[in-house]
Amino acid sequence: MKIALIAHDKKKNEIIELAMNYKEVLAQHKLCATGTTGTLIMGETGLAIQRMKSGPLGGDQQIGAMLADGKLDMVIFLRDPLTAQPHEPDVSALLRLCDVQSIPLATNKSSAIIMIEALKNKVYFN
Ligand code: PGA
Repeated sequence: MKIALIAHDKKKNEIIELAMNYKEVLAQHKLCATGTTGTLIMGETGLAIQRMKSGPLGGDQQIGAMLADGKLDMVIFLRDPLTAQPHEPDVSALLRLCDVQSIPLATNKSSAIIMIEALKNKVYFN
């Protein structure tokens, strides 16, 4: 499966912790991420990640384009619901495309754990 990993700044620690805890599971899949998220996860875990531009500079839109092309199977996007984001329209567009394509989307750590546990147990999504 191809999985996108994204986290807003105040959620970066959570996504790093998640990637460390599930490194072996994630290593079995193709990973991509927005720029800063990808750099941090790669630095902490050594996982191979295709890095796009930073989210506010178009990275969310690049991941959205991958969704539109049917090139992603799962999105983990740990959002910060308490901070206004300058690129909110890009974020909304990405989330919308997940629903258009019926792509599994986790926007918080608990949902992400359930989805990654499903991957670990080879429960695949349609
Ligand atoms: P970043 O982008 O990983 O480059 O920080 C995430 C985002 O804010 O969309």
